[in-house]
Amino acid sequence: MKKRLFTPGPTPVPEHVMLTMAEPIIHHRNPEFNEILTRVNRNLKYLFQTEQPVLTLTSSGTGGVEATFVSLFSSGDTIISVNGGKFGERWVKMPRAFGLNAVEIKLEWGKAPTADQILSELRKHPEAKAVYLTHSETSTGTATDVKTLARVIRENSNALVCVDGITAVGAHELRFDEWGIDACVTGSQKGLMIPPGLAFVALSQRAISAMEHSTLPKFYFDLRKAVKSYEKNDTPFTPAVSLVIGVDAALEMIRAEGIENVWKRHERLATAIRAGVSALGLKLFSNSPSYAVTPVWVPEGVEWKTFNKILKTKYGITIAGGQDDYAGKIFRISHLGYYDEMDMVTMMTALEMTLRESGYKFDAGIGVQAVVKYLQTENGA
Ligand SMILES: *Cc1c(COP(=O)(O)O)cnc(C)c1O
Repeated sequence: MKKRLFTPGPTPVPEHVMLTMAEPIIHHRNPEFNEILTRVNRNLKYLFQTEQPVLTLTSSGTGGVEATFVSLFSSGDTIISVNGGKFGERWVKMPRAFGLNAVEIKLEWGKAPTADQILSELRKHPEAKAVYLTHSETSTGTATDVKTLARVIRENSNALVCVDGITAVGAHELRFDEWGIDACVTGSQKGLMIPPGLAFVALSQRAISAMEHSTLPKFYFDLRKAVKSYEKNDTPFTPAVSLVIGVDAALEMIRAEGIENVWKRHERLATAIRAGVSALGLKLFSNSPSYAVTPVWVPEGVEWKTFNKILKTKYGITIAGGQDDYAGKIFRISHLGYYDEMDMVTMMTALEMTLRESGYKFDAGIGVQAVVKYLQTENGA
């Protein structure tokens, strides 16, 4: 049985990328590695649509966000943080752990923040040094309109615009420079299609200047060091060499497809899955759907544990369940990274077979038909 991963991180790794990572290890302080990192740095700028530095850190995505907190701010600084799910919640708890005054905008799960909500907190806290947004909240499959909110923040304050782009980069349109973002983080095991272990942090000149005044304790995650090394296409500490080699190959794939086509593909696959799910009579969880992951309510009469077990053991497919209050109530299908149209047909077929075996009643093939119809109409067939 083939195993298929439909989770929002780790995501599947292309065969060709896996092979590059299997080559003998090379030393990170030699010209061969410098050449690779130079190309990676250039292609990361393309990925984030920026002329600014994009730093590569050896850590998971969370470490990348931690690096922004400790490198940009000082004890007692106020930051505004949007909590619309599991990850937004983390960006409230984390700054508090470092002695920052984190003002929380708490949203109902599945809802995206509005410009009015951000504005009202900015008016109450004119001293705020930053606003943290989660572009694609993975726990709720909800996308935030970063373009609009970044403009609103810029026009009404001096706060830095900081973005958790961990499941958005490579799935949603993101234009770091044009939209006026100051810090944006992603991780390797999401849209970048390689195993976990690297974080990427893009920084604006405003953010780089802010680092000069930051007094929070830091050492490994001191982004001033990372910026200095970056200028020589180097890293301050030993990087995860094999992963950097892998991301080089993955970024070349993204370049070859074209970033706008990569965004479009994610939108198409997400829309196809939503069409299939709706045709089956299932209810979608979010009304501002992310292109990375689609959360769906577990239908009445179906037991999540049984359903998940059939999907995994009989069909080899791993999806994600719900978190916190939504454990057992929703399931999440990912289409982030290395996926194509046939993967969506496969996923919907397995979903139908599993639902049927879990006792849910519907016309066989109706979900698959909706997926295929959407994809073919879109193709002009
Ligand atoms: C996965 C994820 C994270 C956490 O990244 P790790 O690599 O697990 O540290 C943070 N934010 C979002 C939106 C994510 O999807």
